[in-house]
Amino acid sequence: MLTDSASRLITYSPAYTLVPTYECFNRCGYCNFRKDPGKSPWLELSEAERILKTLIGTGIREILILSGEVHPNSEKRTDWGDRLYELCELALSLGFLPHTNAGPLSFQEMARLKTVNVSMGLMVEQVNPTLWETVHRHAPSKVPSVRLQQLEWAGELRIPFTTGLLLGIGETPGDRQATLEAIGQIHHRWGHIQEVIIQPYRPGTHQSGEAPGFDLGELPAVVAMAREILPEAVALQVPPNLIEEPEILLACLEAGCRDLGGIGPTDEVNPDYPHPQIERLTRILEPAGWELVERSPIYPQYYDGLSPRLRSHLLNAGY
Ligand code: SF4
Repeated sequence: MLTDSASRLITYSPAYTLVPTYECFNRCGYCNFRKDPGKSPWLELSEAERILKTLIGTGIREILILSGEVHPNSEKRTDWGDRLYELCELALSLGFLPHTNAGPLSFQEMARLKTVNVSMGLMVEQVNPTLWETVHRHAPSKVPSVRLQQLEWAGELRIPFTTGLLLGIGETPGDRQATLEAIGQIHHRWGHIQEVIIQPYRPGTHQSGEAPGFDLGELPAVVAMAREILPEAVALQVPPNLIEEPEILLACLEAGCRDLGGIGPTDEVNPDYPHPQIERLTRILEPAGWELVERSPIYPQYYDGLSPRLRSHLLNAGY
């Protein structure tokens, strides 16, 4: 059992998710999010502004811009990139801190979005290429080398980055280890991975039902494996809404998890699993000696690397 008070702090980010579009040219076997291209109207800036204005003063600081993917060769790709950029600009103008996760981007797209995001993210999920024959059969952007390239580019561009593993999609324990080691190696080169999400796949009501799902009882052991492989500076995160049993959540913390991610009204990726209230989480954590504290979407060790403009937005947001 850890004893000093700093090591008993568990962080979370008060967040709201804006979805520019649910349309996605991939069809992952476990997806509860996507709609077919052309079947999901894009989020208009006026509607985004209306939503964001209702969040002012509520304590929400992070705006997660989470988008389905428009094909890189689609004639709509430039407009989609513009919409992402404009939504980030809008969020900044209203006092929020954007964090974009929109699938694999070109180097230029990533560099442009860096100017309006305090951090960005992309799940590696798993590096096992055989998943391309199963759950990723119809998901060209889930090629492991493409995802790892994104992490490299983020490093090159000095973007504080969030990535993670998706568990229970057909991978083996060896695959999990290989994925963690691949992330660790890239972090070793660039030092930009701020957190790694250890995300159990949980079945939802919208998916096509191909993925086997994850036995939550194994989660603390995966967290422990991640803690052993990744440097201390890389925070480990588990999503509390996907872990119903308090004992398993607490076991993940004892195994080295120190962050619960963005907590807000809706989990767009897992709409069947609403986020717990902060009060409920506190009731679980406090008796076990853990203290829940807010954090910004960029971890403090990266504050100095922000552009002067983003740094001033961070200060204005109270960090
Ligand atoms: S999981 Fe992501 S990439 Fe896969 S189909 Fe769903 S939205 Fe697209």
